[in-house]
Amino acid sequence: MRKIKLKAMAKINLGLDVVRKREDGYHEVRMIMQTIRMYDQLQLLKREAPGIRVKTNLYYLPTNEDNLVYKAAKLLMDEFHIRQGLHIDLHKFIPVAAGMAGGSSDAAAVLVGMNRMFGLGLSRTQLMERGVKLGADIPYCIMRGTALAEGIGENLTRLEPVPCCHVLVAKPGIHVSTKFVYSNLKVSELKTHPDIDGQIEAIKNRDLKGIAALMGNVLETVTIPAYPVIQQIKDEMLSHGALNAMMSGSGPTVFGLFDREEKACQAAAALKEKELAKQVYLTGMFQGGKEDEE
Ligand code: ATP
Repeated sequence: MRKIKLKAMAKINLGLDVVRKREDGYHEVRMIMQTIRMYDQLQLLKREAPGIRVKTNLYYLPTNEDNLVYKAAKLLMDEFHIRQGLHIDLHKFIPVAAGMAGGSSDAAAVLVGMNRMFGLGLSRTQLMERGVKLGADIPYCIMRGTALAEGIGENLTRLEPVPCCHVLVAKPGIHVSTKFVYSNLKVSELKTHPDIDGQIEAIKNRDLKGIAALMGNVLETVTIPAYPVIQQIKDEMLSHGALNAMMSGSGPTVFGLFDREEKACQAAAALKEKELAKQVYLTGMFQGGKEDEE
């Protein structure tokens, strides 16, 4: 196989709780992860000349070893002594630095793609073991679907697929650093925690309204006071009939779940008109199956 095309899917968090801060500074989390049908497109191409070359449509993204796709390729090239070169063409659609694991998913796609292209024979679990060395979200991005993530996010339990619904994704034109959010989170002072176990139960029962009602993200306690536009976007989605709306990951992207497409479209139009969000996309839950192919 000389080349391969891949989809790197984005994720949202239906629930995000931080249980404690560990001695080593890492936060222990309990998150409900959900893949959505928004993706970056990658093409991997073998080259005669050795080395890794990255090309991307976003001028501000690094194309050297700072890009996660480069890191992922290098990891496998070094371990398997791959002498041939690799060209990676990365077309980004997932908003960058948005709490949607875009970079992690790109890296996951490279690991999966290289495994096939170079016939490395690694199982999904073995790919996940390699992925975690580059980022805690990468094993989940390899797994995809609905899952409970614990530990620092790498300890995964697969859950039943969530019922189909419309997912409205809106990213305001602000930059929120993940480091800022976690370093300002006061875990011991949190007054409430999302009911992650209750949400798992609702997922088992395929109860979309129950899943939506139990959405909660403790990181909003840091981001919303600092960036009130996040609350404004949530309110706008709710006023247009979202089952619920919440920030994904460490933000600033907000997503809303809708049972009717028409309401989601109206919310999208209002967000654009009021200029609350720079990027607005209507998508859906990824449920595996055929779409899993690429
Ligand atoms: P997470 O949800 O895992 O916190 P995120 O959505 O906050 O991820 P990313 O979009 O993955 O963040 O990237 C954050 C930073 O990583 C960017 O500022 C960017 O410079 C760097 N980066 C490296 N490789 C990539 C990539 N392939 N795609 C996007 N960003 C990348």
